[in-house]
Amino acid sequence: MKALDELTFDNRFARLGDAFSTHVLPEPLDEPRLVVASDAAMALLDLDPAVAETPVFAELFGGHKLWAEAEPRAMVYSGHQFGSYNPQLGDGRGLLLGEVYNRAGEHWDLHLKGAGQTPYSRMGDGRAVLRSSIREFLASEALHALGIPSSRALCVIGSSTPVWREKQERGAMVLRLAHSHIRFGHFEYFYYTKKPEQQAELAEHVLKLHFPECQEQPEPYLAMFREVVERNAELIAKWQAYGFCHGVMNTDNMSILGITFDFGPFAFLDDFDAHFVCNHSDHEGRYSFSNQVPIGQWNLSALAQALTPFISVDALKETLGLYLPLYQAHYLDLMRRRLGLTTAEDDDQRLVERLLQLMQNSSVDYTLFFRRLGDEPAAHALARLRDDFVDMLGFDAWADAYKARVARDGEYREEQRRARMHAVNPLYILRNYLAQNAITAAESGDYSEVRRLHEVLRKPFEEQAGMEQYAQRPPDWGKHLEISCSS
Ligand code: AMP
Ligand code: MG
Repeated sequence: MKALDELTFDNRFARLGDAFSTHVLPEPLDEPRLVVASDAAMALLDLDPAVAETPVFAELFGGHKLWAEAEPRAMVYSGHQFGSYNPQLGDGRGLLLGEVYNRAGEHWDLHLKGAGQTPYSRMGDGRAVLRSSIREFLASEALHALGIPSSRALCVIGSSTPVWREKQERGAMVLRLAHSHIRFGHFEYFYYTKKPEQQAELAEHVLKLHFPECQEQPEPYLAMFREVVERNAELIAKWQAYGFCHGVMNTDNMSILGITFDFGPFAFLDDFDAHFVCNHSDHEGRYSFSNQVPIGQWNLSALAQALTPFISVDALKETLGLYLPLYQAHYLDLMRRRLGLTTAEDDDQRLVERLLQLMQNSSVDYTLFFRRLGDEPAAHALARLRDDFVDMLGFDAWADAYKARVARDGEYREEQRRARMHAVNPLYILRNYLAQNAITAAESGDYSEVRRLHEVLRKPFEEQAGMEQYAQRPPDWGKHLEISCSS
């Protein structure tokens, strides 16, 4: 285990120079204090979890202190926001403090979000509020625990610094970890500003550091793009299978590594609703739950456009064509597993669609349905779940088809069904109202609920004693929380 001053830095992105990022120092928060830390994320840096409780930890991640080897930089990028190109984005409130590598040789970007103004802040104050920092922290670690690729979160540091949103709130910082913070929007920036040399430098950097296996391919950049398409198809399949709604799938929020990235007004579905829009500011529903699938492709085409200097249009189009079939295959595979099936049949897609339609019509809780389906032998579970559906006859017809399908499922064994299904169907997810409860307590200085919720969500598939209240449908007040971009 390492102490805080034993981190080893190797700032590869900073070395690309001033065309790519600007040196900026973090602006300290007043009276920094630890809100919550993730032991699992600390382990990625070989850090002893006990150091989170030391004052220097809050000082480092609250912007007061810096390692001598850190080189804090604000990265420049652009991107398509809600379908329109915005030429000037960049780290407006976050800083890449540096890149650290651990004993296993893995590199991790340390990114401090809420660290004050930068040349890319535009009209913003460079700050993040406690509420959104807690949400990003909990979601990053919860997604990871569900097996969904995501940036990670080391800690949230709270403060007494006032920050104005719709009302006065308190500033906070979240320390984010990822193998890279390069977004689709980085490539778009150099493409649209017509800087081919820098764009080539960026592409070479990404290829060498993040897609080294593609270097061996006859067309390395094309192989890299293909990998980005594949990873995003898989990522979005996981979002859809587990009911995660990102909320702001702008191309500047899309990671080149295919991880969930830049959390804002995200949500996990409570009741299944294909048309759910979690971002209160998304009036058109561009980023509704079911639209995430075509938007994934739209975003990849925006990246493809930026890669036209390196790859032929025909090859880009052909590779983009892989997205939907790949998505579909991953999604169906996950849904089969969620239904406890171990084999594939042609009609499975239809079986899943029929179920979702029934759930939609009856506002059935998406997470608990699958969990309960695995609690008991299929016939018993179905008989119990039936009560949740308004269209009981419709559900009975589906249940008959499902039972017949289960009976045909090869090596099906009843006694293994429960363990197999519970291993893929979480009991605990980050419901908006659970996050809200933790935030309300934290805003009055009590961090115990954030910490407890974080602990529960670390093991989403394991039933935990005394934690029943985290596995319930939301109360009425918790169903319609309005989450906007202002964070
Ligand atoms: P987001 O919607 O959080 O992904 O942010 C979009 C853009 O706005 C990025 O360039 C952010 O850095 C910037 N931004 C968001 N909030 C702030 C803020 N409070 N101060 C400065 N820039 C911000
Ligand atoms: Mg962003």
